[in-house]
Amino acid sequence: MTATIIDGKLIAENLRNLLAEKIAALPNKPYLAVVLVGNDPASIIYDRNKQKAAQALGMVCDIYHLPEETPEEDLLELIGRLNNDRNVNGILVQMPLPKHISSAKVIEAIAHEKDVDGFGPYNAGLLHENDPRAMIAATPKGILYLLEHSIGDLSGKHAVIIGRSNIVGRPLASLLLNRHCTVTVAHSKTVDLPKLTQQADIVVAACGCSQMVKKDWLKEGATVIDVGINRIDNKLFGDVDFDDVKEKAAFITPVPGGVGPMTIAMLLDNTYQAYLNQNNNLKKG
Ligand code: NAD
Repeated sequence: MTATIIDGKLIAENLRNLLAEKIAALPNKPYLAVVLVGNDPASIIYDRNKQKAAQALGMVCDIYHLPEETPEEDLLELIGRLNNDRNVNGILVQMPLPKHISSAKVIEAIAHEKDVDGFGPYNAGLLHENDPRAMIAATPKGILYLLEHSIGDLSGKHAVIIGRSNIVGRPLASLLLNRHCTVTVAHSKTVDLPKLTQQADIVVAACGCSQMVKKDWLKEGATVIDVGINRIDNKLFGDVDFDDVKEKAAFITPVPGGVGPMTIAMLLDNTYQAYLNQNNNLKKG
């Protein structure tokens, strides 16, 4: 068997085109505020890419670039201002933050209706409770979209997620449970991981271990989603050994061009949803 490659780049492009049409029909442009503290080169590139993608869809996106030594209270004050600004629909604070700033405090300070990353405890709680009002973190939301787009109904499938972070593994576990999957979450202390993945219909690798998942870790015909981004000698590798695994999987995402483009598309979708929610609530109020 040779796997069908899930073309995240194309799927994300189609999603962005649909979003652009919907945004063109709105009376105002959705506004995304991106907050960046410090000069981490990767973060600067990520945020510029988000800004370009947002602008290409007809949104307004400003990057609030603060110096590395910005005190925590100044950052919280900026978030307070953005929270209270009716023109701002979505707020995203680029991680990682400098060490003197508590990222938990900052994430918690973002108004939950503007928390387009979905990292705050309010939205994480709603997702945990399978409440449709949850703003869902962009990467797991994109993964769910890719899975349903490729294999359809997920009910009854056994999914093994490798990684338990708050931004990928945990929210994805809730999302897949809500779709009636049987979910196993593995992590760095999991014993005999290949024995678990060999039982899975779906394997999602999100651990940051370059090319760790091999063909003999899988059952024939599994669907493999590779979230990992590992840069080695200026080349990108996923957490899955793509060339090995593609001989055995039914569907597989490449790195790059799989999950990555979906993350940005879903962030913009969240911003659009936030705009709609806020404007509907204004009408109601
Ligand atoms: P993280 O470091 O916060 O978490 C990694 C998780 O993997 C932890 O739960 C850890 O217990 C687990 N883990 C580590 N080594 C393991 C091992 N040997 N076996 C099993 N589990 C192990 O990472 P994260 O932020 O969740 O990101 C994971 C990967 O996904 C990274 O490579 C990151 O760059 C990538 N990522 C990609 C996107 C995207 O849009 N494509 C988005 C977010 C993260």
